Amino acid sequence: MDKITVAKGDGIGPEIMDATLDILLNAGAQLEIDEIEIGEQVYLAGNTAGIAPESWESIRRNKVFLKAPITTPQGGGYKSLNVTTRKSLGLYANVRPCKSLHPFISTKHPDMDVVIIRENEEDLYAGIEHQQTDEVVQCLKLISRPGCEKIVRYAFEFAKKYHRKKVTCFTKDNIMKQTDGLFHKVFDEIAVEYPEIENEHWIVDIGAAKMADTPELFDVIVMPNLYGDVLSDVAAQITGSVGLAGSANIGEECAMFEAIHGSAPRRAGQNLANPSGLLQGAIMMLNHLGQTEIAEKVQNAWLRTMEEGIHTYDIYKEGISTQKVGTKEFAEAVITNLGKTPETLAKVSYEKGAPLNLPKYERKPLADKVLVGVDLFVHWPGFDANEIGQILQKLNSEKAKLTMITNRGIKVWPKGFKETFCTDHWRCRFSAELAQMEKDEIVRLMADAVKHNIDVIKTENLYQFDGKQAFSLGQGQ
Ligand code: NAD
Repeated sequence: MDKITVAKGDGIGPEIMDATLDILLNAGAQLEIDEIEIGEQVYLAGNTAGIAPESWESIRRNKVFLKAPITTPQGGGYKSLNVTTRKSLGLYANVRPCKSLHPFISTKHPDMDVVIIRENEEDLYAGIEHQQTDEVVQCLKLISRPGCEKIVRYAFEFAKKYHRKKVTCFTKDNIMKQTDGLFHKVFDEIAVEYPEIENEHWIVDIGAAKMADTPELFDVIVMPNLYGDVLSDVAAQITGSVGLAGSANIGEECAMFEAIHGSAPRRAGQNLANPSGLLQGAIMMLNHLGQTEIAEKVQNAWLRTMEEGIHTYDIYKEGISTQKVGTKEFAEAVITNLGKTPETLAKVSYEKGAPLNLPKYERKPLADKVLVGVDLFVHWPGFDANEIGQILQKLNSEKAKLTMITNRGIKVWPKGFKETFCTDHWRCRFSAELAQMEKDEIVRLMADAVKHNIDVIKTENLYQFDGKQAFSLGQGQ
């Protein structure tokens, strides 16, 4: 018997959760359910995270969480419960299978069978944002080596376990050479350890276009958080319906399983909603718990029901579907089909055994880190780069000299183009005159900036790691 935490959520949540649990328990799933309340009522009761402390305890104790969608109240101040849960519990991998059910669900891509594996904890999704000047706001994109290693290894281990042939990586490392560059580099390093699995890398723009056009060319795709957020919805939608996809959020300790859609409040309480997305999440949960035979039984019965054309309103199509049913009737049809297998679609059989178990991250020996300069970010409401160049040169010393100014990444000093539009946000690069800069020199620059009334809004140190420059040049430098 596995004890799990269940939250029925908001909107259509309770109906689709009841239907899902009904199917699971009728199939013989060995589940003991610990129910918690999350979502709208908890938010409105004054808990800005949408979850009470005792509910966290239940999830952390049971380690497996089946969650229905929730409604995030309109207006500011409410933190996304999904993001909070993923990050607080270290659920680093988001796994979303997207498979066509042609000819039973209409799709332009009959042979599509893609699994998107999205990094779930970092990237622009860390939500570290600041307003720095009147005109400029910033979102910090953090990519870490442990983050990359964990997700890339998970993708290859997933491919191995589920007999997938290829892992593709999407990044934008032609532009973001440090952040996406690290993701791609780690992908190349880890791919070597799996010679039996094909690997490839695409720049995300053309990769996304190809995935939307010819998804049958892809198998497992691994990518950083934000690209994964967007493209996993695209992938689910082009199989025929986002309403059919589930997802797993996997961490070293805990895991959360859910549908990818939201709480569809307008459809709530009318016995209309399709429980398939949540059911798909629940099937991944059964596999995670090692209840593989039950997972197989439920999936085959669901496929059979899809084939029989017993469809909820969202996927019902004249000519393909045979019966339009409500949530409860759909669940009953799946229950009737337990023990049966699909006749046209491929029957599933899952590998027995424990969930994927990845080695713990090991920190590498420290690199040789040398400070070679500093970027002072300055708020200055002028437009003329030569003028701010003159002002900033007042800070030059024997140890550090102004070598470059960029505006939104484009070099504007020295020798900028008069055509370049400049905002009030200037990156002023001071480089060491010698091979190395002392940290004191940064303090001196800051103190002199205050004396000269220069409004420094932040600094970034410029380093070499093991002799390699570890910061970007200015565009046009
Ligand atoms: P939504 O996914 O809830 O609904 C969009 C539309 O899709 C609905 O109007 C409905 O027509 C259809 N739909 C979605 N799921 C369906 C199902 N199972 N069966 C049949 N039809 C279905 O997206 P939304 O309207 O943008 O968001 C509604 C609420 O859900 C918001 O409060 C949002 O914050 C929340 N939300 C929650 C989650 C989550 O908890 N995981 C995810 C996304 C959105």
